[in-house]
Amino acid sequence: MSLRAEWQRSEVHVDGKWRAARTGKTGVVENPATEQVIGTTADAGTDDVDDAVRAARGAFAGWAMLPVQERVDMLRAWHGVLAARHELLVATTVAEVGAPVVVASEAHVDMGLAVFEAYLDEGPLLAWEEQVRTSVVLREPIGVAACITPWNWPLYQVLAKIGGALVAGCTVVLKPAELTPLSAYLLLDAAVEAGLPAGVLNLVPGKGSVVGEAMAAHPDVDVVSFTGSTGVGARVSIAAAPSIKRVCLELGGKSSSIVLHDADLAVAVSASMAGAMLNSGQTCSAWSRLLVPREMYADAVNLATQSVSGMRVGDPTDRETDLGPLVSEGQRTTVLEHVARAVEEGARVVCGGTDRLPGPGHFVAPTVLADVPDDAAILRDEVFGPVVTVEAYDDENDAVRRVNATPYGLHGAVWSTSDDRAFALARQLRTGQVDINGAAFNPAAPFGGYGRSGNGREMGRWGIEDFLETKSVQR
Ligand code: NAD
Repeated sequence: MSLRAEWQRSEVHVDGKWRAARTGKTGVVENPATEQVIGTTADAGTDDVDDAVRAARGAFAGWAMLPVQERVDMLRAWHGVLAARHELLVATTVAEVGAPVVVASEAHVDMGLAVFEAYLDEGPLLAWEEQVRTSVVLREPIGVAACITPWNWPLYQVLAKIGGALVAGCTVVLKPAELTPLSAYLLLDAAVEAGLPAGVLNLVPGKGSVVGEAMAAHPDVDVVSFTGSTGVGARVSIAAAPSIKRVCLELGGKSSSIVLHDADLAVAVSASMAGAMLNSGQTCSAWSRLLVPREMYADAVNLATQSVSGMRVGDPTDRETDLGPLVSEGQRTTVLEHVARAVEEGARVVCGGTDRLPGPGHFVAPTVLADVPDDAAILRDEVFGPVVTVEAYDDENDAVRRVNATPYGLHGAVWSTSDDRAFALARQLRTGQVDINGAAFNPAAPFGGYGRSGNGREMGRWGIEDFLETKSVQR
C-alpha cells in the first residue's frame, strides 16, 4: 500500500487556516490489515479547542444569517469536490478502518455522500417560519456545535453529523476518532477548495479524554453532538451539564433480526448475516441477534452457518473480500472476550470462535453462536464485531419481549410475507429504525436510538432539527 501524501498530516484547521497543534504533538495512524503505520495526525490540546471555538463563534453570525438556500449552495459545491475525490476517499477508508474496498465504496463513501446530499435537499423544505395562531414560530441555528465522531464509519459519521449542523446554520468544531482521523482531513481539504467561509468548519483531531472532553465542557459551545459508545456518551453529558448546553447522543446498539414463521427463511437468514457482518460487525445498527420461530431453529442455525462460512475474510483491498480486519488489536481482544464469556455461560460456537486468525492484521473469523442461555450477557451487550447469536422464540409476543429486553434500541429487522404483519410487529419494537424484508436504506429518514442508544436523530430534516432553536414571536 502506497503511503499517500494526503495521509501525512500534523495540523489542526482553525479559522480557515492549517496550523500546527499548540501541543506540538502528533499521533500515528495504523492500517489495521497490515499493522503498518500509514499516516500521521495532529494530537491537539485544550488550547486548540479554545481557538477553534472562538473561530466558530466569530463565524457564526455570518453563516447563520445566510438564507438557507445560500448555505445549501455552498455546501453543494463542497459535496461536488468530495464526489470528484471518490477514489481517494475509498482508499483512505480501506486504509484507516480496514473496510473491504467494495463496502468502503458503496456503503461508507456513497452512502455518506447520499446522507449529506439529503440534508441539502431537505434543508430548504423545513418549516423555518410557521404561523401558529397569533405567533410566528421561527427555527434558528443554536450556535456553535461541537461534533465528536467514532472510528467505525469515519467519513460517513462525520458527514451524517456536520451535514445537519451546517445546513441548520451552526458553525462546527469537529473532533474525529483518534484511530481514523484521515478522512476528516480530506473533508477539510475539500471544504477549503470549495470555498467554505473561514471558521465555519474547524478540525481539532486529538484524544477524546482531552479534546473531546474540553469540547463537551466548553462554556461557549451551544450543542454537543456525540456519536460513540454509551459509556462515553454519559461522560459527555456530565461534562456538558454545568453549561446547560444541548447534548445529542448517538450511541451503541444491540439490534435484532426477527424472522416470522411465514418468511422465506433462507432469504431472511442470508440477508441477516450479511447485515450483521457488514464492516466486520463494527456497526452500531448491526443485527447481531437472529430470532426465529422455535420450529425453524435447527434450519436457521444451519443456514446461518452456511452463509457465514462462505464469507471471505482477508485483504480489504481485494474486491472479493467480504470481511476486513477489526480496527485495532484492542477491539479484537474485546470481541474475543465477549465470545469466550458467552461460551463460559453455555453458548455453543457453531462457526468462528475465539481463535486468533494468523497475522498480520486484527482479523476475527465471522462467528455464529447457538443455544445461548436467555440470561447470557451477549444477548444484551454490544459486541461490535462479527458475532451473531441465533435464538428461538415461542410466539410473536415472546419475540418482541426478547428484543425489547436489551437496554439499547437502535435498529431492527422483520421478515414476513405479510407486509401488514411485519409492520404491526415493527410498531412494537422500542427502536429508532426497523427494516422490513431487507428494505433499502433511506438517507433522508431519521436515524437514532431509544433508551441507551441515545437521544438524538441524524439524517434528513430530523438531523437538521437537532441543531435548531425555536422562537415564538407574538404579534
Ligand atoms: P468511543 O465512545 O470510544 O469514542 C467516540 C468518540 O468519542 C471518539 O472521537 C473519542 O475520541 C471520543 N471520546 C472518548 N472519550 C471522550 C470523552 N471523555 N469526552 C468526549 N469525547 C470522548 O466510541 P468508538 O469506540 O469510537 O465507537 C464505537 C461506538 O460508537 C459503538 O458503541 C457504536 O455502537 C457507537 N456508534 C453509534 C452510532 C449511532 O449512530 N448510534 C454510529 C456509530 C457508532
